Amino acid sequence: MQELRCEYCNRQIKNEPEIRVRRGIKHVYCSEFCYRLHFYGVPRITYEDLQKMYELRTISVKLEV
Ligand SMILES: [Zn+2]
Repeated sequence: MQELRCEYCNRQIKNEPEIRVRRGIKHVYCSEFCYRLHFYGVPRITYEDLQKMYELRTISVKLEV
């Protein structure tokens, strides 16, 4: 089976990937969260930061467009 990695955080995807198609190009993310961060052009955050966030489950991200 092909290994999938999130385009945003580069984490290996073990569960169901979030697959989004934008302008005819398929993008793969580990979660809706990463998709949104990528979509809104939030600067890349580190794997360690993400791990902390996923651990805490208290994700509050302001998406100011
Ligand atoms: Zn991700």
